Amino acid sequence: MKLDVELQQKLLELANIERSLGVEVSQELPEARELVQLEAQLDRTRKAAGSARMAVDDMELEILRIQSDERKLRARERDDKAQLTAATDPDVRRDLEHDLYAAKSRIADLMSELQEAHNQIHALRNNVESHGAQVSELERKVEAARRELDSAQAAHEARPDSSQRLAELRAELPAEVLAEYDSVRHENGVGVAQFTNRACGGCYIQLPPASVNHIRTTSETLLPQCPDCGTYLVR
Ligand SMILES: [Zn+2]
Repeated sequence: MKLDVELQQKLLELANIERSLGVEVSQELPEARELVQLEAQLDRTRKAAGSARMAVDDMELEILRIQSDERKLRARERDDKAQLTAATDPDVRRDLEHDLYAAKSRIADLMSELQEAHNQIHALRNNVESHGAQVSELERKVEAARRELDSAQAAHEARPDSSQRLAELRAELPAEVLAEYDSVRHENGVGVAQFTNRACGGCYIQLPPASVNHIRTTSETLLPQCPDCGTYLVR
């Protein structure tokens, strides 16, 4: 196909715009993807923060349970001691001493359980705090990502109308060239593409050396075709 060199660039621009319009509708803004990822991360972190909070609640209940058991055992200890001052029967005294020993030993166990629970709740509270900080940090990031998406969408909507540019380009190109371009584009969805190094910009196939040589030696006012997909190639 014959076409002046400066018009070849316009034909390529026309083909590129028309090709990009075909995929534009389904294209997602990268800012939207980023926001979705951050929101998912925030959601996971909030759940982890909730679990950390629940672990603290459970440990607080455990401490209350230990303290309540301790109070009951101390009462039993006092009661055993009081009864021992009055009891004279050796069997009764033996039973009371046995019970007193059991209560004291259980209190000692509870005290070490309580110490362990206090150590754990300290670590668990730190965990809640660090999750809280992560949540706040992610909330800030999500907020920033939302603003970026808003401005990206605004920029996307305010972009110059491509239909006007397409009309300008078509007005400048010869009718028979447009007819040929439209016909090939109808067949392969591309019509005209850039020839880059050794590859066709339409089908992206690396062409064999003989074809590359043929394309390179074609007169510059002629548009060679990709031997594979038929796309006209602009060098
Ligand atoms: Zn091709």
